[in-house]
Amino acid sequence: MYSGPEPFQWNYCPICGGKLETRDDGQGDRPHCVPCRRFYYSNPIPAACCFVRQGDGLLFVQRAVEPCKGLWTLPGGFVELGETTEEAALRELEEETGLTGRGLRLIGASTQQSRYSGAVTVLGYLVEGWQGEPVPKTDAMALDFFDHQSRPPLAFQAHRELLATFDALMGRAGIT
Ligand SMILES: [Zn+2]
Repeated sequence: MYSGPEPFQWNYCPICGGKLETRDDGQGDRPHCVPCRRFYYSNPIPAACCFVRQGDGLLFVQRAVEPCKGLWTLPGGFVELGETTEEAALRELEEETGLTGRGLRLIGASTQQSRYSGAVTVLGYLVEGWQGEPVPKTDAMALDFFDHQSRPPLAFQAHRELLATFDALMGRAGIT
């Protein structure tokens, strides 16, 4: 039985707190606040994740928070207002692993529907260089470098898709 949150939707205006009405914005019916004269949109939220290599290993972190607490992911998280997706990737890497990364190369993008946030669009970046001692921090309970054969199952569909893209780019497609 699913015990997570209700599906994401706009019901009340986050500015004035008033109940939203459905109005046509010219392209379709949208939640709208009449006093604030503002439409609200349910767009995918941008996120970024990092591919950090050490020899044959790739860095994964074990989540210490919901959703998917205890499962493994690539290090990463949501982009905040005022930063670029690259800045978000490096910030999240440092926050979760203590590593300072540099030199990002875009691997690809993947969008995943989400009960928590509506939808998430994840940009995957290869981190070309890094320094520091990897230590699980903030919302990570553990981390490790895994070679191709011993990788843990990943929590998020978007990360699984980006991992497949990464493997194809690295010339390892088809190797299990
Ligand atoms: Zn309002």
